[in-house]
Amino acid sequence: MSTARAAPRGVSILGSTGSIGVSALDVIARHPGRFRVIALSGYQRLDVLAAQCRQFAPELVAVPTAAAAQQLRGLVPASTRVAAGAEGLDAVAGHERADTVIAAIVGAAGLLPTLAAARAGKRLLLANKEALVMAGRLFMAEVARGGATLLPLDSEHNAIFQCLPAVGVDRGGVRRLILSASGGPFRTTSLEAIEAATPDEACAHPNWRMGRKISVDSATMMNKGLELIEACWLFGVGSDRIEILIHPQSIVHSLVEYTDGSVLAQLGNPDMRTPIAHALGWPERIESGVARLDLTAIAQLQFSAPDPLRFPCLRLAYAAAAVMGDAPAALNAANEESVTAFLAGKLRFTRIAAVVDQVMQHWCVAEPDCIDAVLDTDIRAREQARGFIERYVTEG
Ligand code: NAD
Ligand code: MG
Repeated sequence: MSTARAAPRGVSILGSTGSIGVSALDVIARHPGRFRVIALSGYQRLDVLAAQCRQFAPELVAVPTAAAAQQLRGLVPASTRVAAGAEGLDAVAGHERADTVIAAIVGAAGLLPTLAAARAGKRLLLANKEALVMAGRLFMAEVARGGATLLPLDSEHNAIFQCLPAVGVDRGGVRRLILSASGGPFRTTSLEAIEAATPDEACAHPNWRMGRKISVDSATMMNKGLELIEACWLFGVGSDRIEILIHPQSIVHSLVEYTDGSVLAQLGNPDMRTPIAHALGWPERIESGVARLDLTAIAQLQFSAPDPLRFPCLRLAYAAAAVMGDAPAALNAANEESVTAFLAGKLRFTRIAAVVDQVMQHWCVAEPDCIDAVLDTDIRAREQARGFIERYVTEG
């Protein structure tokens, strides 16, 4: 008797050269019969992108400019088409031979291609939280209209997804969602030392190896603020039902509390290949390459409430989540500008929160009725943020 083997599932990756992209390809490479890489995209690191193309022979690869495309053509297999610019990203997001798209571009740059994948009705594995934070309601509407299946890759949201009741939050007796957070590299650093923190210090995360933008966000805890907003949209709950808990070991990835007092948590080593493998294989479970969790070696799991003085970005994110509208898009844009200025050595670490605070204090919240309105918010909030950044640069 022979058993029919299903054709490999086609997978495209927006942002394949980043931390999430590389981890996703690592998982995919462990399952050659199950997955086939259809399309990739990268922005910098063309050498890494070229090596990925030689290993996985995708049908399409997208780069930012015509010049980069020209450069890449000589380095990839002849069967791989090289496309450039926004059209290239759209082609990766909507490629008909891929039913799964991993959205792993960092920041607002990921919004339009991630939306394109939602509109194309893909199985959408979402790492690019900024896209959902910016466009919230409109994004979820496009997912529903396109018939896409949204699966969270962010470890906390993937953990919650695993712990939620099959009948949904409302009928399933969920009381609260609890997002865990490591507290980043400055959890116990003196406030004076934080004031003088360098980009390399801010990016030296104790538990996770990630891109530099999200690493800075973890140090300010704006990452958890963005994740709060992400959780509101993904799971359809208000921010008043979401709590943030510091857990320095990053073993408990998040928790769901039920009305009967039960609390379900998902545990695992801090390695993004676990949520990636979970979402790639879902509803089946597949091998990820992650080391088995040894709780006796870890011995202790600690929990505490976040300190609002140390992490002012949490208050700013809760305030944006309470009003929604275009407040999260403004928050995200101000944060991205500030983090870029900090990473460039222009802005002090503690001023990241100060700039975002200034922008939000002056922000007149409106409900965006289309994606162009979201993009307009993004541009205006960045302009305002740059104004405050310049003032701080002048003041020193
Ligand atoms: P990264 O900086 O390592 O990689 C970003 C990817 O996006 C790269 O492939 C880069 O070439 C591409 N990119 C950058 N700017 C671009 C632009 N303007 N246009 C098109 N492509 C561009 O980032 P990362 O750590 O992999 O994070 C990616 C996303 O996943 C972020 O939204 C982050 O918040 C989220 N995320 C990351 C982790 C993690 O462990 N790294 C965990 C949870 C969520
Ligand atoms: Mg996370």
